[in-house]
Amino acid sequence: MGVDVENTIQNRFVNPNLPDELVASIRPRSLNDFIGHESLKQNLAVFISAARGRNEAMDHVLLYGPPGLGKTTLAHIVANELGANFRATSAPMLTKQGDLAAILTSLEPMDVLFIDEIHRLPTAIEEVLYSAMEDFKLDIMIGEGPSAKSVRIDLPPFTLIGATTRTGLLSNPLRDRFGIDLRLSFYSPADLAKIIVRSANILDATIEPDGALMLAKSSRGTPRIANRLLKRARDFAAATGQKNITIETIKTTLFQLHIDQDGLDQIDREYLNTIIKHYAGGPVGIDNLAAALSEPADTIEDVIEPYLMQMGFVQRTPRGRIVTESGYKHLGLEK
Ligand code: ADP
Repeated sequence: MGVDVENTIQNRFVNPNLPDELVASIRPRSLNDFIGHESLKQNLAVFISAARGRNEAMDHVLLYGPPGLGKTTLAHIVANELGANFRATSAPMLTKQGDLAAILTSLEPMDVLFIDEIHRLPTAIEEVLYSAMEDFKLDIMIGEGPSAKSVRIDLPPFTLIGATTRTGLLSNPLRDRFGIDLRLSFYSPADLAKIIVRSANILDATIEPDGALMLAKSSRGTPRIANRLLKRARDFAAATGQKNITIETIKTTLFQLHIDQDGLDQIDREYLNTIIKHYAGGPVGIDNLAAALSEPADTIEDVIEPYLMQMGFVQRTPRGRIVTESGYKHLGLEK
């Protein structure tokens, strides 16, 4: 009953960037179903109802936070609650100004346009967004060479929702054009346990409160990982002919997936061990670390480090990464 976990970040089980199975059925569709982040939801509800009351497009929204925390889900919810169409794209898919222009000119009034990974927009395309966001106008060059001319096209009022894992990479002119800034942080184990119980109901499985909390604690504060662990635990339960997910089943699941009680997997442990063994616990720069782990620096920054920092196992300092005393302790070592 072993599960192969390939030892690369791209393939790792806890990689929150991997696509989900069964996403549609368990994705919350209304603010009420969206668990946690209470004050963010309250604010959003006010902005949504004000926009509806005025019959205007809602102000543009910037959502930021690590992958798997609910940015796409919230964007869908905003569109649902506004009673608007939802159009989605992602920055890496937009390679020419014309790609974005085609999407903008096909929008209906009040539509919600979601752009994922918005920090990855090339500058020339980003510039098209400025007047589109500010004045609902599209300024674009038609033709090439001496006969090229600039034209201005009216766009319908729309709401842009941009999602990014790192606001630091967003240019100031773009960031300034978002009227609403929402930050999603890691979820508490209690909120993740609620998400797990809700998803278990939808998936026709049962899980005890203790079990839900145990899975929650190993989910790296991330709903996407919580749902994925739940599905694997459901598989292990099914392998013994049960629908009920017991504590024993959860222990087996975590053991087989090499995930420890704090949600760390082999790659996280390798990251900590590399800094401890090769760099005496740090500080070590991200490029050296990326080379030592044979992984791209931005993946390390996006996928591994946010959670390890949240757990207090690693610190980022101007001189590089340092493993903290708790990081050593987690591995059973002394600093
Ligand atoms: P992101 O866009 O930030 O990478 P998603 O919106 O795709 O994350 O969320 C990942 C999954 O986690 C979704 O399929 C959804 O089912 C679940 N999820 C995220 N946030 C919540 C929440 N607050 N309550 C319940 N489920 C959630």
